[in-house]
Amino acid sequence: MAPRIYRSPLPDKPIVQRSIFRHQFPKASKYPSEFPAYIDAQTGATLNRGHIKDLALSFAYGLRNEKHAKRGDTIMMFSPNSICWPVVVFGAVAAGLRCTFANTAYTANELAYQYKDSQAFLICTTRGNLATVQQMLSSTTVGVASKRNAERRIILLPDDFDWVPGAKKTDGQKLISGLVTLEDLLKLGKLEQEEQFEGIQAEQETVFLCYSSGTTGKPKGVETTHQNLTTVLDIVVSGFPALSPTEDRMLAVLPFYHIYGLVKLLLFPFLCGVSTIVMAHFDPVKFCAAIPRYKVTIALIVPPVLVVMARHDCVQQYDMSSLRVMFSGAAPLGGELVKAVRSRLRPTNQPPLHIVQGYGLTETSPTTHLLPLLPSPEWSNITEESKYGSIGFLLPNLEARLVVDDKDGHAQTDDEVIDALEGQRGELWIRGRSIMKGYLNNPVANTNAFYPHSPSPPSNPTPGSRWFKTGDIGVVDKDGFFWIVDRKKELIKYKGFQVPPAELESVLLTHPKVADAGVIGVESARESTELPRAYIVPADPSILSSEKAVEIGREVHEWVKTKVAKHKYLRGGVIVVHAIPKSPAGKILRRHLKEQALKELAGK
Ligand code: AMP
Repeated sequence: MAPRIYRSPLPDKPIVQRSIFRHQFPKASKYPSEFPAYIDAQTGATLNRGHIKDLALSFAYGLRNEKHAKRGDTIMMFSPNSICWPVVVFGAVAAGLRCTFANTAYTANELAYQYKDSQAFLICTTRGNLATVQQMLSSTTVGVASKRNAERRIILLPDDFDWVPGAKKTDGQKLISGLVTLEDLLKLGKLEQEEQFEGIQAEQETVFLCYSSGTTGKPKGVETTHQNLTTVLDIVVSGFPALSPTEDRMLAVLPFYHIYGLVKLLLFPFLCGVSTIVMAHFDPVKFCAAIPRYKVTIALIVPPVLVVMARHDCVQQYDMSSLRVMFSGAAPLGGELVKAVRSRLRPTNQPPLHIVQGYGLTETSPTTHLLPLLPSPEWSNITEESKYGSIGFLLPNLEARLVVDDKDGHAQTDDEVIDALEGQRGELWIRGRSIMKGYLNNPVANTNAFYPHSPSPPSNPTPGSRWFKTGDIGVVDKDGFFWIVDRKKELIKYKGFQVPPAELESVLLTHPKVADAGVIGVESARESTELPRAYIVPADPSILSSEKAVEIGREVHEWVKTKVAKHKYLRGGVIVVHAIPKSPAGKILRRHLKEQALKELAGK
């Protein structure tokens, strides 16, 4: 049977063959260099478009000449959001480097895993994250032999704004002996021209390495190419409500180290000439205060931020009337929550506030679907309200399928891949030029992620020609709008952050009192997120029916907090059981655990 392939209602965009740097800084820019580009929300310190290009090329010069970085080397960013980010990212790309981005909540062990796996050699960090970096560099996993060598790998990012052109000088931050700072590298010179990535290089060369666990296992380096990025930016532009460089301002509170923040808040507004207001962390009061202060028109958020908007008292103390779009992504957004926020923020619905959502994965760079209702005759009879909860329509240049059966991931021929009938649910498969090249050095994961299978990215002759299996279950309604209804893969998402169960299970198995473990996600409607919940088998089975079982559960819960980043804490509980349900092949039957959890939670 012929496959049932879904396409976008929007026309395709031309595919370009250039570096992401050239895409962001075309020879003839449409926008004046004096336009503000990135603004620090707390102080108002501003980098305009001209500054960004100059500083990026200066940083690139420093990387090349002082740090001896070569094309294809990897630099890691381990920092909360700040206006240093665009300088580092654009500078590294101009110098021909790959960038990998780590969650700032990581422990030294978690950081070491990514630093080593991505083969990073330099790491940019702040004073606040320095101790973790130093511990990571001296750990046996990374094994940088001497203190001096470890120091050479660090670039310290400033806490002040003395380096910002035109900023009033302060006393400056105290130097930390032995460490090179961003400011040091900016002073050395300026690269005349950025590294070129054209044609096949733009298609094949990796520029970003974000980490995702995919459908199973531990986090893996997602190889995002120049062309993945140029494509996704261009297709998002066509699906996003029209932006005005003079009127619109975006609030960047989501972390730049996640692909959603990186592409939608660091790259996308710059491409559209729109200013970005940069916040280091989400704080309800600071978030609400920034909206009237900077006349923010667009806020990109995750569903738990909307929960705060629906409930927190501070919302009513600030004038939110400048906001015209709240754009949610990274996790499911329910229609009820949208209605609650809209009625609170716009009791009279004047001027209108659109709360819409996007969908995507780190592997899809990320956005593949959007739900703003664009002015189109096709959609004239559809109301935005009737589509709340939907992830919207497929973006141009992408194709999608909903697959009900692919022989458990082993389909070898097209006949073995069965598509869902109209209205039926199936696993969402996507193909197109914005889909990652593959997972870094991971042939098994690559074989499982794509159809037709191919273990190593370079053997993929035509980028975008393979189907990528998202691991999400979707359905398409009669108007062509997609809805995500379930997840086939084992991933848990806590407030938009990935929590790979396999990672938590391997941590749990190192506890001396734990013989076996299985981790699943349970829904918290109150917080609009999933919570990781562990089932553990005690090493001493005799304690199972005693008080001690509860004690061990508590002990393990607290102990996990010393081992992993905050978003992975077992907030959904630790339950002591006789055995973890497994298939004959030894695979954890997570469905069984989920059903068990539903019963346990319903009985509470
Ligand atoms: P990440 O790679 O961290 O962006 O995680 C991708 C996963 O987040 C997807 O496979 C989905 O399971 C989930 N996700 C992202 N956006 C949405 C959305 N709008 N609705 C439902 N799930 C989403």
